[in-house]
Amino acid sequence: MNRLVFCASVRAEDAREWTLARCGHHSLSDGRSVRHLGVTQPCLCGHSHCTLLHVTRSCPLFSDLRSAWESVAQTITGAAPSGLEDVAFLELIFAASGLWGAPGLVRANLRMVSSMMRRHREYLA
Ligand SMILES: [Zn+2]
Repeated sequence: MNRLVFCASVRAEDAREWTLARCGHHSLSDGRSVRHLGVTQPCLCGHSHCTLLHVTRSCPLFSDLRSAWESVAQTITGAAPSGLEDVAFLELIFAASGLWGAPGLVRANLRMVSSMMRRHREYLA
């Protein structure tokens, strides 16, 4: 486990969910298992593709989780995450090192992603 993740003082299940999502092992349409099925998974909000970027960045079904995270991210980075390009946005959430390795942000990243992945699985059930 990444040292920053280990030191973030989060539940093991949150660290596990974030790590799996980071590696592409999630239930969204760009996750490995769905991609191998060769199907397109639309989002319940009506968006054509339920991808990791869509869920973390713009899906209204996850806006409450995103809002809490954005507040922490903006406080720590000094800039609104909504202004970032997609790659920089994903790096902010999944690169657990470098400039954004602040424990408060790592903790917020893990909690947001793990909550989103759990909620998405509930929607599929
Ligand atoms: Zn959506």
